[in-house]
Amino acid sequence: MDEFYRESESLLRFIEKSPSCFHVVKNAASQLAQKGFERLWENQKWDLRPGGAYYVTRNGSSLIAFRIPEQPFEGFQLVCSHTDSPTFKVKMNPEMEADKKYTKLNVEKYGGMLCAPWFDRPLSVAGRILVRSGNEIRQELVNVDRDLLMIPNVAIHMNRTVNEGYAYNAQVDLCPVFGDEQAMNTFDALIAETAGIQKEQILGTDLFLYNRQKGTFWGSAEEFIASPRLDDLQCLYASLQGFLAAEQPENAAVFCAFDNEETGSVSRQGAASTFLQDTLKRINYALGNSEEDYLRLTAGSFMLSADNAHAVHPNHQEMADPVNRPQMNHGIVIKYNANQKYTTDGVSAAVFGSLCKQAEVPFQTFTNRSDMAGGSTLGNISNTQVSMRCVDIGLAQLAMHSPYEMAGGKDALYLKRVSELFYRTMLRVTEDGIAEVCAKY
Ligand code: ZN
Repeated sequence: MDEFYRESESLLRFIEKSPSCFHVVKNAASQLAQKGFERLWENQKWDLRPGGAYYVTRNGSSLIAFRIPEQPFEGFQLVCSHTDSPTFKVKMNPEMEADKKYTKLNVEKYGGMLCAPWFDRPLSVAGRILVRSGNEIRQELVNVDRDLLMIPNVAIHMNRTVNEGYAYNAQVDLCPVFGDEQAMNTFDALIAETAGIQKEQILGTDLFLYNRQKGTFWGSAEEFIASPRLDDLQCLYASLQGFLAAEQPENAAVFCAFDNEETGSVSRQGAASTFLQDTLKRINYALGNSEEDYLRLTAGSFMLSADNAHAVHPNHQEMADPVNRPQMNHGIVIKYNANQKYTTDGVSAAVFGSLCKQAEVPFQTFTNRSDMAGGSTLGNISNTQVSMRCVDIGLAQLAMHSPYEMAGGKDALYLKRVSELFYRTMLRVTEDGIAEVCAKY
């Protein structure tokens, strides 16, 4: 078993343990705590010291961790990814009867998913519940860790034209079956039992569906992986490993994982929120710096916005740009978009490309076909709150936003390596955002 395989193997195990954005944050936080990172709370005073390592969460679904160098530093160096994935959220009062024979769950779409692959496969429910405990309301994570739900297709005999294309109606077609008629009014009790509490204690819920199929290696030489939520947990996990490995950075090293990217990042904890700016400002002030120091530091900062990219599709090669055609297992994808959906420009591409070369990590480029709009991601959105030099990168994958996605088995380790080097390397601004890469190694 080589080191590439081992890295992707531990990525797949991390994803299995992380069926919701809340579990992602909990599991990332426990890796940070194991490495000695101290937990901070947003509503308490921060006493930070040079050489310290800390993390803070917002809403239990976004997380920022950082290392402060021993010596005065010139900027923040960040890698950002997202904790959420397209799924279905369980609505309040979710049970609905169907023909007095079934109990279904009422759900709504979260993010823009491919609908068809959610059918005919075991699903379950995970997320958080708010629990009354004396005079307190506390948060508990829950995962009904068994095959619980299915969304059945309509048989071909009843919809002969389905293979010519079908418009799924979320309210009609996509509500999962929870049980027979006996299952009515048992959902809350099941969630309570899973959490080891009484159902009367449940005051609120944020519960999501997830695909039960586990991650796997596949292909003639097991060169590919498949798993739920590779977008964006592949980038999140790999950049976290790079961050944990990069001790004693010269600039302040920051790891960011934001919720709500799939719905446009506009929330209290998303990349469009104040979370990043608040955190960077508080680091600055806790070290006794001024407002001008904060502006100086952000001007000297650099962000990698890490979110998965599209590999050329084997059956639809025509959908890729004629020249820039990412391939799985061929390293980090640098993403370009003239309309600034991606932040990459000549300067940030030059800086990141030189880091890849130094780390001996291959890199490739992605642009949309000029007649296709494409998506957006974290970098340009967080730049409206905290402006800094930024490059958009990702790992090549197929079936993006399916509940079971495909990627290369080598690419997680490539991203870990270049993230680690990025955090270790002082990127110094020389003039108007033009950077000098001061290699430490
Ligand atoms: Zn993504």
